[in-house]
Amino acid sequence: MRPSPVDASLPSLDETAERILLSAPDVGELEREYVLAAMRSGWVAPAGPDLHAFESEVAERVGVAHAVGLSSGTAALHLALVSWGVGPGDVVPVSTLTFAATVNAIRYVGAEPFFVDCDEESGNMSPSLLRQSLTHLRSEGRHVPAVVPVDLLGKAVQYGAITEVTQEFEARLLSDAAESFGSTWQGLPTGSFGDASVLSFNGNKVMTTSGGGMMLTNDEALAVHVRKLSTQAREPVVHYEHNEVGYNYRLSNILAALGRAQLTRLDEMIARRRSWRERYRNIFREHLGVRILGGEDDSQDNCWLTGIVVDPHSATFSARELGAALRLSNIETRPIWKPMHLQPVSRGIKGIIDGTSEKIFDQGLTLPSGSAMTEEQFGRLIAQITRVIG
Ligand SMILES: *Cc1c(COP(=O)(O)O)cnc(C)c1O
Repeated sequence: MRPSPVDASLPSLDETAERILLSAPDVGELEREYVLAAMRSGWVAPAGPDLHAFESEVAERVGVAHAVGLSSGTAALHLALVSWGVGPGDVVPVSTLTFAATVNAIRYVGAEPFFVDCDEESGNMSPSLLRQSLTHLRSEGRHVPAVVPVDLLGKAVQYGAITEVTQEFEARLLSDAAESFGSTWQGLPTGSFGDASVLSFNGNKVMTTSGGGMMLTNDEALAVHVRKLSTQAREPVVHYEHNEVGYNYRLSNILAALGRAQLTRLDEMIARRRSWRERYRNIFREHLGVRILGGEDDSQDNCWLTGIVVDPHSATFSARELGAALRLSNIETRPIWKPMHLQPVSRGIKGIIDGTSEKIFDQGLTLPSGSAMTEEQFGRLIAQITRVIG
């Protein structure tokens, strides 16, 4: 690895420059109207008509039978695993190149994650390494009830190849589509693949409820059970009756109203992210050794974040250098997720790692991609990038 150019003896941060964020929430008058209308309706308490409408609207958009609104994408991952009875003694193969939430949910239920490395082009779970993982785990006699791939930065997993493997090994597929709402794979929306999937409406995602998530499925029994688990597993009787351990994970009606407003603008917000993507592509096309993570064809991606991968041997700059320089201009960038198998919290957890995710982490950088970013901000950003990379 190259030595980091950050640290001492560098010019200091330009605090006069307005901060440009990686992916700021994009909310305005329409969102205010929807939220105020929900408050005026009196449905301030958790469930209510906006929540039910939001669930139906998302289910329709994705083309699934059921959607359950929850307090976060993490809660959605957690409850799908709880409902399937995944627990201690089980092993759950998961993308190593992901946000911690994906892996945390597996650990909440006491199962053992098993890290699977990725394809170079997209950073998504490699179907061949998944097959190797399942073959290895089967040979050890381990029970693998589910597999969790992640649509990284909004690029759909190779669902055909991944599903073939999960079906062959009779494992459920839990699709972490937290980053990919609005994307498709072979024309079908992400979130519609697998036995269940999750969306996140966290503040920096492609659309937000300020905080929230959803579990999607065509399995009615699963949807009913997850909805029940999310409201403390109350039995449908007048007094408080509980036959199993529940959670307080339901999405609130007020936040669902915010989500409904955002949903009407989703395509417009994705179009804006795509326009940044195209302009980044044009800038970096000229530069040897720089590629956009996800490959040349992003026509089916929601372009949530644009990530570049910079080969230090052929490029004139490194990803870390560019990130450090932009930081001084008060522009937020981040390395692509630090692989979960490298995290101290994952000590002792096994997997099949071929080095691809580590390389993407070392050489990768995500760039400001939010739909609320202005032309003026983007112009300043491009001027800084051009200055650094020449
Ligand atoms: C954001 C995210 C989540 C978690 O979503 P929250 O709503 O923040 O809990 C899960 N997985 C991935 C890949 C994410 O990016």
